[in-house]
Amino acid sequence: MKCKFCGGSDFINLNNVVALNYVNSTLPIKAVPVSIKVDVCTSCGLGVNHTPLSREEYNQIYNNFFYFAYYFDDVFKKYFYIDDISFFVKHIPNLDSKVVELGCHDGHLLYMIQEYQKQHGNGNFTNLMGIEPSPNADIGIAHGLHIEKAYFKPGYFKDNEKVDVFISRCFFEHLEEPFEMFKAMLDSLSDNGKIIMKVPNFTGYDLTHLYYYSWPFLEKMAAKYNAKIIDCLIKYQEIWNAEEITVVISHKDAEYPAIKCPFDIEYTVKHEKQHILEDKKLFSMDCIEMEKFMRDKENVYFLGTSVHAPYYLTVLNKMKVKTNIIPVDILQNRKGYELPYCNNPVILLSDLKGKKIDAMVINGHNKEDIFAKLNTYNINVEKSL
Ligand SMILES: [Zn+2]
Repeated sequence: MKCKFCGGSDFINLNNVVALNYVNSTLPIKAVPVSIKVDVCTSCGLGVNHTPLSREEYNQIYNNFFYFAYYFDDVFKKYFYIDDISFFVKHIPNLDSKVVELGCHDGHLLYMIQEYQKQHGNGNFTNLMGIEPSPNADIGIAHGLHIEKAYFKPGYFKDNEKVDVFISRCFFEHLEEPFEMFKAMLDSLSDNGKIIMKVPNFTGYDLTHLYYYSWPFLEKMAAKYNAKIIDCLIKYQEIWNAEEITVVISHKDAEYPAIKCPFDIEYTVKHEKQHILEDKKLFSMDCIEMEKFMRDKENVYFLGTSVHAPYYLTVLNKMKVKTNIIPVDILQNRKGYELPYCNNPVILLSDLKGKKIDAMVINGHNKEDIFAKLNTYNINVEKSL
């Protein structure tokens, strides 16, 4: 495999990390942990996933990506968007600026931008739109958002139709041809237009992530296409235990000054190797605790089925835990889904209203809120972890 950015063929192996594969069986989507090989191109610093899935598998994921639809969920809003919305809004120059979010899912970000503007600004944005191929688009459309159910491609917008702000959030790392897409965005961008691009900061291992980006690399990429980075936000997300980077890119000749990347790629790689080791250690400690908790129990409810749940269940299975595990989630759309090594489909927390539960594992950072929710539903949990 050659580096898609610079053609280089020399890579440093970062690590064999474990990621989730969502498509090992027929839908509804099942998640099983698999190994993924991520290398770093020594000439440009781009991270490359050397174990991608097939085109059919990616189509299956993107055309049926219901598992990550958030339905404008309150918990989701609170934990994801509290700080970032102002950053997006700050970069929209006018109320009538044409703002296009690529891969907007159910449109929750566009919705949050408009809500933020209603609360803090003067007037509403009038020209927000999203492009999204999955059925999630229908949810946003039903909420009154302007979403086109399609894939964004070069030539999507006509020559005279310029975009003032492109938003590409958790999108660019999924693309097979990211640089062609980046060029397509620049081609449709107005003279002082901006691309706000949020990607994992050389982390977030997932089989749907084909490339891994860092600030030094994104700076090189912008320069190659006659563009520059004018703002950057790096934020640790507790929910993923990973960092995200948001860069704002404009044409080289745009009126804003460029900013320079303050660290180098060697530092990024070293930092990430350390992070992977720490993550593994914390994860093993969690599993030992869970095994101990489940050992003498016949039934245990497992609350919180996203992100780390499939990893935990796989390891618990390896540890020969015989407990009957009943997965529970708060999000409506997860009802009925199956998790690896779990004989029961996901039920909703609201299904347990007024019940007495012997044992529950709470897989989530927001424990205080979860206990409040248990109280609201009058669910009495005897023992929890
Ligand atoms: Zn390269």
